[in-house]
Amino acid sequence: MQEFKLFINNEWVSSSDNKKFESLDPSKNLPIAELHLAGEKDVDIAVKAAKKTFESGVWSDLDPDKRADIMLKVADIMRKRLKELAKWESMDTGKPIMETENVDIHYAIRAMEYFANQSREIKGEVIPLPGNVAFDWISYEPYGVVACITPWNFPLHLATRCICPAIATGSCVVAKPSSLAPITPTILGEILMEAGMPAGVVNIINGPGGTTGEWLTGHADVRMISFTGSLAVGRKLLEVSSKSPIIKKVILELGGKGPFIAEPDCDIDGAINSLIVGFCLMQGEVCCASTRLYLHDDIYNEFMEKLVRRVNSLKLGDISDQSTQIGSLISRDQLEKVDSYVKNAVKDGATIVCGGEKFDEPPFDKGSYYRPTILENVKNTMRCAREEIFGPVLVVIRYRHLDEAIAMANDNQYALGATLWSENPKTLFYASKKIDAGILWLNTNVMSKIEAPYGGNKNSGLGREDGTIGLKEYLKVKNNVLFIGKEYDNFYGFKD
Ligand code: NAD
Repeated sequence: MQEFKLFINNEWVSSSDNKKFESLDPSKNLPIAELHLAGEKDVDIAVKAAKKTFESGVWSDLDPDKRADIMLKVADIMRKRLKELAKWESMDTGKPIMETENVDIHYAIRAMEYFANQSREIKGEVIPLPGNVAFDWISYEPYGVVACITPWNFPLHLATRCICPAIATGSCVVAKPSSLAPITPTILGEILMEAGMPAGVVNIINGPGGTTGEWLTGHADVRMISFTGSLAVGRKLLEVSSKSPIIKKVILELGGKGPFIAEPDCDIDGAINSLIVGFCLMQGEVCCASTRLYLHDDIYNEFMEKLVRRVNSLKLGDISDQSTQIGSLISRDQLEKVDSYVKNAVKDGATIVCGGEKFDEPPFDKGSYYRPTILENVKNTMRCAREEIFGPVLVVIRYRHLDEAIAMANDNQYALGATLWSENPKTLFYASKKIDAGILWLNTNVMSKIEAPYGGNKNSGLGREDGTIGLKEYLKVKNNVLFIGKEYDNFYGFKD
């Protein structure tokens, strides 16, 4: 079994108390790698390495063109190792190889390329001030040490979504991936070294959130926390920042409960296909998954009949088989959580239209597979319609008027991704102003690109990742004021 140490200061080091943990292939429930677990001392060493590198200027003062060159080299090596990375990603998360090869790793490569090029584009602004006595310009500066804390559902994509903008600005990073799927973000260490990244710019440590994660985010030398994960941990990190002697910049990318509204004039086939991707990609373990279908009465029967037929034809099974479409959930705990949501929904009055059970035909009983599930007769007030289930579960609610559907869509603590299908541009435009969401998909679904901002409102988070808007989250603003008038000001009228 492969062993991964801690990546600190461009060296692979053992954990100081020699603690290790195993990462499992959830589709087989078998260990696939052993990783060193960072103790408090290791966290301190990693943060100090990042701080020292940042203060040395070897990266923060480097010509942005040179920074970009190194990052582009990283992207090249990632591309050469795409198949290998995709294989690890699939085994570590339980998702089909078809997804990791075609989606996940490409996102990570694109993030490296996009933010490499953005590093050349960081520029200030000149502010015209009244009176012509001062030249005022704004400059953007890196934070220093950035902690990147990321979840298990898109390990490399989400780690690079944070690491890349941070280093593009000149900051140095300590990244801590989820211990449920830490392998690909850890392998990134090898790639960074091969590309010539200076030591200490990116440090990658592993361990549980409650210990390693807390030591990292609570470290006095960490100036910014970029977090992707659950609402509960997001709330804790706001507290960590507020209680820290020097408050930390925090950006949060949290959960979702994506509404999907299908108007009577929508393209039914297109809407159904995009909805299935919306709630089945990565077995529904996606923050912006479309998990609440608001379906107009006039098309209800035709839509449901086709939707159920297509969902029932999805292929579950061996994640290394290119034709498999649905893999395993991340863990037994997640499997039980999803199943109990469905059972409770039925107790609350919902009916199962398809799925609603584990997929446990041998040999898949060793994994944590759940059949894609659709629940009807759901009310917007039920738990299954309100909370993030993080599994392939869709709830369906009928409506008659668009305003009613929009009101139900907005009546949720989350506001990350939302979707609307209609062939009427007036409907699309009207609803675009009324729906509360960080990302609104109109006649498409779950399309997210590194070039455009990603993030949510309400309990879905604070701030944005990706795009130039995301890059700015990683930059401090300095307003510089240079006096250019004829005489210095003497406001109090001193004479001697
Ligand atoms: P999680 O909050 O349990 O863990 C996320 C990360 O935080 C992990 O690395 C974990 O080790 C660490 N962590 C846990 N407790 C910590 C603490 N006290 N201090 C510091 N770090 C700590 O989330 P998860 O179960 O890994 O991921 C699922 C959640 O992530 C879902 O809610 C999902 O919606 C959300 N998510 C959001 C986005 C987005 O872009 N908005 C993307 C993917 C996932």
